Amino acid sequence: MGATVEQALEQLKSTGVRMTPQRHAILSFLMNSMTHPTADEIYKSLSPAFPSMSVATIYNNLRLFVDAGFVRELTYGDDSSRFDADLSEHYHAICRSCGTIVDFDYPPLTEVETEASRQTGFKVEGHRMEVYGQCAECSRPNS
Ligand code: ZN
Ligand code: MN
Repeated sequence: MGATVEQALEQLKSTGVRMTPQRHAILSFLMNSMTHPTADEIYKSLSPAFPSMSVATIYNNLRLFVDAGFVRELTYGDDSSRFDADLSEHYHAICRSCGTIVDFDYPPLTEVETEASRQTGFKVEGHRMEVYGQCAECSRPNS
């Protein structure tokens, strides 16, 4: 798992980024969330506590966190980006019906990099894979 919220905020502070309660709330929300939220979802969850915060503030902060390397931006298809504060190596299963993203892991897949390198002569730096289908909820009969 990645850094704690406090470690991340300390690191941001050392690069001269000013700490605000909103910034803290957005980063905490992302780090405690397993749902890979969109900017809109973050906005809806936090706006009761921060009524004066705009969606633009959310976007600006997400951009800052992505650039600082604390958060990964997930762009799948043409839906709005989702954000993931779990920086560990993992894959995503994506529901075509409701958009839910669920984490999974499959370490043997790193062999694909060795094989790709062998076949192409590339110095491979990484790979990306997604699985698409219906989530457990959406594929349940009579749901
Ligand atoms: Zn679903
Ligand atoms: Mn994830």
